[in-house]
Amino acid sequence: VTNRIDCDVAITGGAIAGMKLACELIDSGLSVVVIEPNREIPPLRRGDLLAPCTVKSLDSVGALPNLLKRGAVPLRQWRVYGPELETLIHVWITETTPEPFNYCLALPHPLLQAALRETALAGDNIQLLAGMRTTGLLRDGDGMVTGLTAAGAEGEVEVRAKVVCGADGAQSAVRGWLGIETAIETYPYNYLMLTCERSPDQPADQQTEYWGRDGFCGLFPITPDWVRCPVQAFPGEMKRWREIGFAELHREMTTRYPIFEKMVLTEDGVHPYNILKHHAARYVADGALLLGDAVHCTPPYYGMGMTMAMRDAHHAARVVRGLLDAGERPVAGALAAYEAACRPYNEFVITASWQYGQVAASHPKSHAEVEARMAHATALDPDVMGVIYADYDAPPPTLTPTEASTRLKAA
Ligand SMILES: Cc1cc2nc3c(=O)[nH]c(=O)nc-3n(C[C@H](O)[C@H](O)[C@H](O)COP(=O)(O)OP(=O)(O)OC[C@H]3O[C@@H](n4cnc5c(N)ncnc54)[C@H](O)[C@@H]3O)c2cc1C
Repeated sequence: VTNRIDCDVAITGGAIAGMKLACELIDSGLSVVVIEPNREIPPLRRGDLLAPCTVKSLDSVGALPNLLKRGAVPLRQWRVYGPELETLIHVWITETTPEPFNYCLALPHPLLQAALRETALAGDNIQLLAGMRTTGLLRDGDGMVTGLTAAGAEGEVEVRAKVVCGADGAQSAVRGWLGIETAIETYPYNYLMLTCERSPDQPADQQTEYWGRDGFCGLFPITPDWVRCPVQAFPGEMKRWREIGFAELHREMTTRYPIFEKMVLTEDGVHPYNILKHHAARYVADGALLLGDAVHCTPPYYGMGMTMAMRDAHHAARVVRGLLDAGERPVAGALAAYEAACRPYNEFVITASWQYGQVAASHPKSHAEVEARMAHATALDPDVMGVIYADYDAPPPTLTPTEASTRLKAA
């Protein structure tokens, strides 16, 4: 070990969950160290949409101006076309939550991460160790986590901390070192992420989805001119799409979803994303906690993964600050208040998103078929959206998504 840093809070992972936690701790009086292997923010093509409650939370930590100056665009409506290209659902996002934060905000994911990083690093108490990877946890004789070790090209460092926070994504190493179990489920398909020039036929403030015989396709504006398009890929399709070239891929997309005719595909490669679902057995341990994808992943149909991560960060910061300000030891029992504030909400979102995916990704062949499936799912139910878009400090839901849905309760 060549170096030692003493701090209050050590965060492993400086993406959405980790940097939002750092933003929440600005001006807390606590010293915070973030460890992140990527010096430059990677060009990820997933996670571009923020729910209204998250826009509000980003405003409260001072990050919103940094998103807006990077060109974040508001999305006010959500429209779904069915297998016969009929409008199946049209929801005004503006009616699901109170003003002024009654819209979704979209920005290419790397710019979102950059905005959070800029906000966090403006805090004098936040230090980023970029280019370093956490390599293990430090513990005292009772097994309580007391810090972590990290390594990078410049050497190794021992970071002593009162609380260690694992925000290191779905394959979390911190989760493994803490011995917290989870069962990661995958789906029998994944997604091709295309980035395209928006068609003039698509409103610039509308999230658009197609649920049809060829599977799910979304068109999500991420700038005034560009849309991110997840296209459901069945086994073998991704390989074929890589081989046929962009002109042929464009023809194929246009056959499936005619709106592609007036869209220009950027030729930046064929990027597959796996869809994961998991919810870990525990969020906390003695001296440590997990947040974001490290502790849960949701199917992305409501676009809520980052909201869950940032909502976790909000509650983790509140509980950690309370304990450390009071001079209390952050043992698992004391950190349990954080898990209590987050687990019911996250479980609700995961279940609702999974039900949504049951319809959206089922490649229905007719209007009647999709209607029949919707009778058993919460897809874009305004009652359910009201719960998932609720203010971060609203009480966690006590109902399941089915119980929260007037339509499904009636059925
Ligand atoms: C196809 C798709 C579409 C999606 N769309 C949306 C959407 O529209 N809206 C939305 O809200 N969510 C969406 N999501 C989900 C969202 O992208 C994630 O939930 C969110 O970005 C997770 O953030 P995170 O910080 O928890 O994890 P990650 O983004 O995985 O970040 C983990 C960080 O930890 C770092 N790390 C890993 N190992 C170590 C280590 N040993 N030491 C230090 N650091 C380490 C990594 O470098 C990385 O920076 C989507 C997901 C998918 C797959």
